[in-house]
Amino acid sequence: MSASKPQSLKDLHALLKRGEVSSVDLTREALKKAHAQSALNAFTDINDDLSLQQAAAADARRAAGEDSPLLGIPLAHKDIFVTRGWKTTAGSRMLNGYVSPFDATVVDKMTAAGGVCIGKLNCDEFAMGSSNENSAYGAVRNPWDLQAVPGGSSGGSAAAVAAGIVPLATGTDTGGSIRQPAALCGITGIKPTYGRVSRYGMIAYASSLDQGGPMAGSAEDCAWALNAMAGFDPKDSTSLDRPHEDYTRLLGQPYGHGSVNGNRNGNGNGSDSKPLQGLRVGLPREFFAEGLSADVRAAVDAGIKTLENLGATAIEVSLPRTSLSIPAYYVIAPAEASSNLSRYDGVRYGYRTPEYKDLADMYARSRSEGFGEEVKRRILVGTYVLSRGYYDAYYLQAQRVRRLIAQDFLNAFTQCDVIAGPVCPTVAWNLGEKTADPIQMYLADIYTLGASLAGLPGMSVPAGFGAAGRPVGLQLIGRHFEEAQLLQVADHFQRCTDFHLQRPTAAQGV
Ligand code: GLN
Repeated sequence: MSASKPQSLKDLHALLKRGEVSSVDLTREALKKAHAQSALNAFTDINDDLSLQQAAAADARRAAGEDSPLLGIPLAHKDIFVTRGWKTTAGSRMLNGYVSPFDATVVDKMTAAGGVCIGKLNCDEFAMGSSNENSAYGAVRNPWDLQAVPGGSSGGSAAAVAAGIVPLATGTDTGGSIRQPAALCGITGIKPTYGRVSRYGMIAYASSLDQGGPMAGSAEDCAWALNAMAGFDPKDSTSLDRPHEDYTRLLGQPYGHGSVNGNRNGNGNGSDSKPLQGLRVGLPREFFAEGLSADVRAAVDAGIKTLENLGATAIEVSLPRTSLSIPAYYVIAPAEASSNLSRYDGVRYGYRTPEYKDLADMYARSRSEGFGEEVKRRILVGTYVLSRGYYDAYYLQAQRVRRLIAQDFLNAFTQCDVIAGPVCPTVAWNLGEKTADPIQMYLADIYTLGASLAGLPGMSVPAGFGAAGRPVGLQLIGRHFEEAQLLQVADHFQRCTDFHLQRPTAAQGV
């Protein structure tokens, strides 16, 4: 099944450091693959010259004695992060051809760390979707099977990493858009605690939920990337002002050692073969109920068994309002989206209709022609639930449910240290399979929305293969601010499994 073993950031860093390869070499190779695999439709903009300039600059920095983990590493950004030089469309016709005068903080930080941008990655329009079929620039395809969706909304990011084009990509997760495409494409992704990663220059969808994070080949690679991405940003009013953290600090450590919060319960004496001794893994009953397909369940069960073999104790917990996360999220997210998207009026930037009678007509036509179906649906729903007369019944009610969902997680975390379960009820479905029925599409988000509504960190870790050989992700959800511990658990899992090392052959020669 596996084409060639993916190279880790650590491997690439070592090659660069020893001078066995240059950033220009790696960048040329990545660009070549990006062009060769154009059938995936993973990229919305590529600019070879600009990437090679960045690579040459990284090589010059290294030649001058600089070294840092990402220096010279090719990566790509979800097209929701604004970039100078590369076009930023957010997958929308509304922003066709738009070039930002500034870089998003995430882009800025990763460039400062020496990362080399290969281009912009296709995504669902304004990050609304679960299959990456809502992009105005066409659907992205899953490298494991070109007839399958890659998941959404960060589908381009997941596809580019899974196809081996780049070792690292950025994504954003409002209700699952890092975890779900990572699961469906067999890669590793982490959505950090809300506020860890700056939203400045990340085109807003639902501001109280939006959170950027890395998508890569392993938990270790995600930890390396998060070190560069995360941190307080005064330009983002909801950015968390907390001391700098090294997200790699617990990798390879037995659970409970060296952790600020770790091992409340355990004795911290995990041996080499039982490094997760003392870790209590909560399995929410509601995540294993009706609706979960048998193949995904089998892989997730086996994944939990692996955690147990590593010394963890699995216990059943309950997240009783899991089914309410869909209606709550699909009221709150559209409400915020309807407000955020009001800025696209055809005046300040973006698409303007060529013909109109007066100002009101210009607004109406620009927005009708510039936005796609799903975005319009969300604007309609959002405007409706915020309107006088319905605000209390829908929006306020959804906010109350959100609070209760968050409380359910806090209750569960009195009994366990991490929560584990599926990311998505099924493996990747076929292109077009759910596009006619938005509710079916929304149901695919059932296991990811909760952590988003509660602002908790969540990961997807490759855990096997289901129907038609399509990948399955194991979801791990942690307490607020416990990314390092999540990455530690995922990394131990990956030290004794090889699902994350398998790569599709379908994309080869595309
Ligand atoms: N599928 C969800 C939605 O469409 C989540 C998307 C996301 O996380 N950006 O809103």
